[in-house]
Amino acid sequence: MNGPAQAAVSGQALLGLPRAELEQVFAGYGEKPFRARQLMRWMYGRGVLDPAAMTDMSLALRERLAVDADFRLPEIDACQESADGTVKWRLRVGSGQLVETVFIPEEGRGTLCVSSQVGCAINCSFCATGHQGFNRNLGAAEIIAQVIIANRQLGLIEGRSRITNIVFMGMGEPLANFRPVVQACSVLIDDLGYQLSRRRVTVSTSGLVPQIRKLGQETNVALAVSLHAPDDELRNQLVPINRRHPIAELLEACWEYAELTNAVGITFEYVMLAGVNDAESHARGLVKLLANRPAKLNLIPFNPFPGSNYRRSSGAALDRFRQILIDAGIMTITRRTRGDDIAAACGQLAGQVNNRVRVPLGSRLHEVTWHN
Ligand code: SAH
Ligand code: SF4
Repeated sequence: MNGPAQAAVSGQALLGLPRAELEQVFAGYGEKPFRARQLMRWMYGRGVLDPAAMTDMSLALRERLAVDADFRLPEIDACQESADGTVKWRLRVGSGQLVETVFIPEEGRGTLCVSSQVGCAINCSFCATGHQGFNRNLGAAEIIAQVIIANRQLGLIEGRSRITNIVFMGMGEPLANFRPVVQACSVLIDDLGYQLSRRRVTVSTSGLVPQIRKLGQETNVALAVSLHAPDDELRNQLVPINRRHPIAELLEACWEYAELTNAVGITFEYVMLAGVNDAESHARGLVKLLANRPAKLNLIPFNPFPGSNYRRSSGAALDRFRQILIDAGIMTITRRTRGDDIAAACGQLAGQVNNRVRVPLGSRLHEVTWHN
């Protein structure tokens, strides 16, 4: 069951460590900070993870890294390609757990959708990951490993990575895994990391208000918020975290984040569920919440999965809904469904979650898990 990714290794994972933290590790080795920067160039610039190949470092340091550091990547369990070019990898992250990563090619850009947790404890009623339950958080190394693996698998085009955008929209609630996600973001936007513009890195959250506030203190990447309903009564049913952080509080934190980070706007995601949240009255409710605010809206046609009880809204309902928002001056797009033939579309990622940990809303464990 256990691949090499699970073998006992005492080495410290250096992948995914922000520059300042990596420099501290090297200081602990008695090395100058520029050695940490050299390592970043190898890992992220060249995708090289074998210390023996890092030829601009001293032999002694290479040997030390080979012993003290851990550069192993999760193994690829499966890889599937959709008819539309979307690619999904299933990765082994130990103890039989599997997480999924998806690459979505589009004209002029390529988006990698990364997972941040094994499963998810938020339990939104329309989401396959939520139905899987939660096992554990991924480390920053396991998040960045998804980028390295995808880059290796996809190869370069004209010497450049095919990945131009990264979204934390795979399995898991990224803000419930705060520190590793912030660390990974730092590597993604660092000049010695993946050099992505902060606007091309998006963290999507179901609405963990304290963590949104904290995120604004620590980074300035783009924020997407899964709204899915214009009122608390309906949102409580669809996104259970709303019972703890209702819409008014959530939006307050969003506007604060936009201001603090000089964001062009917050993207609100809204899954279109037939007969549930797709009436014209719901659209008008959204107008009240979002008009004249730094807000964009992404309507997501519901993607079914085994055991789901919802249906996708009709094209006509979607168009009517969108028009009401557009007429109110809210920038609204319908997200094109990609990779649904290989269960790689929004909300279809399930991986494999063993030994689920129960994280009831409001429990102590819930606090511990979410405030790290
Ligand atoms: N946990 C984070 C990010 C992952 S999900 C979050 O909830 O924001 C990425 C987006 O897909 C979210 O907006 C989520 O609500 C949406 N989604 C989940 N299940 C879906 C489904 N079955 N069909 C369409 N979108 C879905
Ligand atoms: Fe978790 Fe997001 Fe799915 Fe909700 S939609 S269960 S927060 S992954």
